Amino acid sequence: MKVELLELKENRVRFLLKGVSAAFANGIRRAALAEVPNLAIDEIALYDNTSVLFDEQLALRLGLVPITAEDPSVFSLPEECQCGGAGCPGCRLDFMVTVEGPGMVYSRDIKFTDPSVRPVVDTIPLVVLGEGEKVVIEGYATLGVARSHAKWNAGTLCGYKNLPKIEIGPECNGCGKCIAECARNILVLEAERIKVTDPLNCSLCKLCVRACETGAVKVEPVLDCFVLSIEGDGSVKARDMVWMATSEIRKRAEYLGNWLAEFA
Ligand SMILES: [Zn+2]
Repeated sequence: MKVELLELKENRVRFLLKGVSAAFANGIRRAALAEVPNLAIDEIALYDNTSVLFDEQLALRLGLVPITAEDPSVFSLPEECQCGGAGCPGCRLDFMVTVEGPGMVYSRDIKFTDPSVRPVVDTIPLVVLGEGEKVVIEGYATLGVARSHAKWNAGTLCGYKNLPKIEIGPECNGCGKCIAECARNILVLEAERIKVTDPLNCSLCKLCVRACETGAVKVEPVLDCFVLSIEGDGSVKARDMVWMATSEIRKRAEYLGNWLAEFA
């Protein structure tokens, strides 16, 4: 297996995996979506809610606010915490929301006791308060994985595709019909010949193949080579998401290997 990094940003990573099966590439995608520990508001107590929203709706909105920490590795999953899941500063991150109308309650109004913990984005609207309306909420966030609830989903857009292989044969007469058809704009005309500018951006739709009257354009997927794209909501760095997802796969593979060895 070979790995080639194509793009690395805070919230997005794109890389090439060569010499693997589709099941392996999909395993990384699924682990990034479902197995990466992430913070989310887990329980709340509403002391006051005179807004137009029901308590449950407010709770749902709070649960979906992406939460981040400067160093998430200092926190434990409640089931793995030294407190045994009873609740301690190592696994429960307390917060308060106290806002009085008129005005909008934003995610920035979620104030955590731990200053290293905060919502990823400050301006997520939660509820509009009219004159004299008020919300007073107390609660805590915990680490969790999206396998047990979607609110812990750190990965938003995680996907893969086969690496496209595009060939322009000698039959090409430079008519340019394929250029007009390409939705990704990756074909250009150079010296009366079609040239591919960015083959990685090809979506394998093959509209260019259909448009070519001379049969010069050939587009095929490379079956053991995949372009993986892992994008998160900002609560966990994309680089860490890939690391944690692959570590989880390795851990499970080792567990399975050890288990099978007992029967060998
Ligand atoms: Zn604990």
